[in-house]
Amino acid sequence: MIEPPLVSPTGLDEAYRLLAEAVHRPVAGGTDVLVQLAGELGPPPERLIDLWGLDELRGISLDGDALTLGALTTYTEIRRSAVCRDLVPALVEASATIGAAQIQNRGTLGGNVANASPAGDMLPVLLATDAVIVVGSVRGEREVPAPSFWTGYRQTALQPDEIVVRIRIPLIADRQVRFRKIGTRRAQAISKVVLALSWVAESPGVQWRMVRLGLGSVAERPIRATATEAVLDGRLPTSDTADTASVRVAAEIEPINDVRSTADYRRAVTARVLHRLIREAGGW
Ligand SMILES: Cc1cc2nc3c(=O)[nH]c(=O)nc-3n(C[C@H](O)[C@H](O)[C@H](O)COP(=O)(O)OP(=O)(O)OC[C@H]3O[C@@H](n4cnc5c(N)ncnc54)[C@H](O)[C@@H]3O)c2cc1C
Repeated sequence: MIEPPLVSPTGLDEAYRLLAEAVHRPVAGGTDVLVQLAGELGPPPERLIDLWGLDELRGISLDGDALTLGALTTYTEIRRSAVCRDLVPALVEASATIGAAQIQNRGTLGGNVANASPAGDMLPVLLATDAVIVVGSVRGEREVPAPSFWTGYRQTALQPDEIVVRIRIPLIADRQVRFRKIGTRRAQAISKVVLALSWVAESPGVQWRMVRLGLGSVAERPIRATATEAVLDGRLPTSDTADTASVRVAAEIEPINDVRSTADYRRAVTARVLHRLIREAGGW
């Protein structure tokens, strides 16, 4: 394993300046970067910049009508956050499925976002909640809606000198969010399929609006299944709706065969899990 030079800025402005001067690979918790150092996932980094000391990237707060999480927020912090549990419990559920305690103590939400794995477990939740990724550089901050952030296999909308600063999740009245991860084990398992479904309905007997379906491990990047969302929008969670939506999602996704699963399994499981979520919501 190579050991590239590492700089440790003490403030965000200093970090931006260093990133503008030369390309550095950011290190947050380091749980993915350590794997990258082995050079098994593309060329290893030439220079590292340690973000861990940047307090500007920390904290969970209510910010008007949005929940804001600093890029360095760890899974353990999300799991312990009463605000997350009250307002977006799917964030807490998803965090609880990541790795095991060691990874949850050190791994960060911003790292999951920037690492851009198609199997990143938090990413479907961010897609289903219309999250906005706020990125920064010497040029200032800009906002990237989650569906535009992951642009291809392990590719993001980040420029080489930009970092993820925070993630903002708009809070929408009467929104429900459900999360499911299918892996080989309950811990230390990379997803075979990961799914987050959200909808807005004032009461259980009311038609769904603003349906979002975020999916991981079924395409080259985390995706929203917009054709399936269209099937669900304006409908009640009936058995007909569930049948139609599960057929549609199986046709919409493009899973692959790999060491963790087959494309056929992923397609079948995605359809079944979606069916089950709709059934649970409909109470039938
Ligand atoms: C044993 C093990 C189990 C794991 N289990 C899971 C799992 O169940 N589910 C899952 O989704 N992931 C899992 N992971 C992957 C990893 O832990 C997560 O993706 C984690 O969120 C990465 O966060 P980090 O802070 O450690 O990122 P780092 O390793 O520090 O960085 C990850 C990538 O993002 C970049 N980066 C980090 N922060 C920023 C930023 N603020 N701005 C710009 N770029 C940035 C880095 O340059 C790097 O390319 C596992 C990893 C290990 C080693």
